[in-house]
Amino acid sequence: MASHIAIVNFPAYGHLNPTLGLVEELVRRGHRVTCTVTDHLAPAVEAAGGEAVRYTSVFGDFYTSPFTEEALSGEGLRTLAEATSLVEQVGEFYEANRPDVVLHDFMAWGARFFAAPRGIPLVRLFPTYAGNETFNIQAKFPVAELTDPKMMEMIEQLTALLPEVGFPDTGPMDFFMKPEHKSIVFLPREFHYDSETFDDRFVFAGPCLGDRSKYQGTWTAADDKPVVLVSLGTAATGRPEFFRTAVAALGTGEHRVVLVTGDHIDAAELGELPDSVEVHHSVPQLDVLSKASLFVTHGGMNSVLESLYHGVPMVVVPQMNEQRANALRVAELGLGAHLAPEDVTTESLAAAVAAVSGDAELRARTAEFGRSVRAVDGPAVAADAVEAHIAEHAGV
Ligand code: UDP
Repeated sequence: MASHIAIVNFPAYGHLNPTLGLVEELVRRGHRVTCTVTDHLAPAVEAAGGEAVRYTSVFGDFYTSPFTEEALSGEGLRTLAEATSLVEQVGEFYEANRPDVVLHDFMAWGARFFAAPRGIPLVRLFPTYAGNETFNIQAKFPVAELTDPKMMEMIEQLTALLPEVGFPDTGPMDFFMKPEHKSIVFLPREFHYDSETFDDRFVFAGPCLGDRSKYQGTWTAADDKPVVLVSLGTAATGRPEFFRTAVAALGTGEHRVVLVTGDHIDAAELGELPDSVEVHHSVPQLDVLSKASLFVTHGGMNSVLESLYHGVPMVVVPQMNEQRANALRVAELGLGAHLAPEDVTTESLAAAVAAVSGDAELRARTAEFGRSVRAVDGPAVAADAVEAHIAEHAGV
C-alpha cells in the first residue's frame, strides 16, 4: 500500500546524500516521499523523485561543519533553534499532509518535536556512526564542545522544551541517547565501531547512493593515467596550503590529479600547475571515484563510504574529530592510511600515496570490501525496514 513518508533531514550534503538512494527506492515503490529541505538542496531531492518541502534554515543555504573549536561553540544552540524553527515553518504543511512515518536524521530534532505528540511513528537515520545505550562516538573520541558553556545553555533550553513537545518524562540525555524503535544506519556493519553492541533495532543498510548525474553531470578523464582525487569535502573553507602541498607531492606526472578545493579557493592561488593537475570547485564525486585509483580525502563519512563502495583505497587527512575516527577506522581495517594534518608535508603526502598505491594486499582488500558493500542493495534494505515499520505501527 502506498504511504506518505516524510524525511526530515539536517541541511548538509553529508546528511542528505546518503538518503537519496532511499528516496529513489521509496518513490519507485509507489510511495509519496516529502523531504524538508533548503532551496539549495531541493534539486537533489527532486532529482531523486522526492517532493521538496522548503524551509529557511538557521544555518543558511546548507550547513558546513566548523573546523575550529571556537567556531563549534554554539552549534548545539543553533541545532535546537533549527529544530524549533523547522516545526514553525513546515508544521502547517504536515498537519494538512499527515505522514504515515517520519524518517529523521539524528540531528533533525524538529521531526521528533512534531511527530511525537501526534503519535506519528519515527525512524531515525544515521548518516554516520549510530548511538545506542552503550556506544556513542563522542564518548569514544571526546570533543571539547561538550564542556562548552553554550552547550550547557542548549541542554537547559532543551530540558525546558521537552515536556511541551511530547517528551514529558524524557531528560535531555535520554532524548539524545535512547534509540528509536527502528533506526537505519547508512554504514556497512563491518565499518562501524563496536557494531556487536547494535541489536535488530538498527538496520545497517550501507551507503544508499542515488544517481546524482542529473544535477552534477559527469567527469571525463583527460588521459589514462591513474586518477588521484584530492578533496577536503564540502566544508573546506580554506587551506590553500594543503592543496599547494598536494600539487607539489602529486603533480609529478605519474597521476592525473583531480583537486577539489571547495568554493573558497581558486586555482590561481595554487601557483603554477602541471598539466597532470586539474582544479575544480566541486566535482561529481561518485563519477570521479568510479574512475579513480586513490582518494586523498578529509575523511567525511560519505567520502569514505563512497570510496569504499568503489573499492578505492584512501589516504585520510582528517580535519576534525569524527573524521579522525574515520581515518583510524580506515587504517585499522587496512583500507588506506591515516595522515594527521599537522604531519602533512610534500614528502609525507607523496610517501603515503606511494605506500598505499604500492601495497597490493591493501588494494585487494579494499576492492573486496567494495564488492561486499555493493553486494548489498542498501536502498532496498532501508526501504524494507521503513515499510515494515509502517505496517507494524498500523497493526498489519
Ligand atoms: N561531494 C561532491 N562533490 C564535491 C565534494 C563533495 O559530490 O566536489 C559530495 C560527496 O560525494 C559526499 C558529500 O558531498 O557525498 C560530502 O560529504 P562528506 O561526509 O564526505 O563530507 P563533508 O562535506 O560533510 O565534510
